[in-house]
Amino acid sequence: MARNLFYSKSTGMYNDWHRNIQDDTFKQLDIDVVEYSECKRCKKKHIHFIAETAYFKGNLYKNTEITRMVAQDMGVTAYLIFYQPISNNAVKTTDAQIKELGYDPSLMFNVAKIDHLKSNYGYKFKEFSAYEWVMFLKDLRTCYKCSSLECTKWQK
Ligand SMILES: [Zn+2]
Repeated sequence: MARNLFYSKSTGMYNDWHRNIQDDTFKQLDIDVVEYSECKRCKKKHIHFIAETAYFKGNLYKNTEITRMVAQDMGVTAYLIFYQPISNNAVKTTDAQIKELGYDPSLMFNVAKIDHLKSNYGYKFKEFSAYEWVMFLKDLRTCYKCSSLECTKWQK
């Protein structure tokens, strides 16, 4: 129905096609992030969390109903992640700097866990620098114990 065309930029040909279906009961949402890793030993993939992301424009609010439902049905953690450039960001981070650091330091994040919530209210945000968020993502991988048959045998 070409609704919200002023507000939503194209997110791909299929999504554009779906948006043009002339029936308002046809609804669809992109899950922005599925954060996962692969076990080094057995190659089994594990989902750490799913997330809804948004550019921070002064308001830490976003409807997360469907993302929360998906997380609850899947039994995975879900986050709402607002990102924004760090204040003195006039100079763009170079590829060389990113290579040296191992990540792009130019963004910061406000992150709220949402999978336990029953509504779009009660978000408790925590601020993360790019470094802190990378460390958080790294910790998820460090702490995760692979649950495959092969690897649980190995752990005994
Ligand atoms: Zn494994």
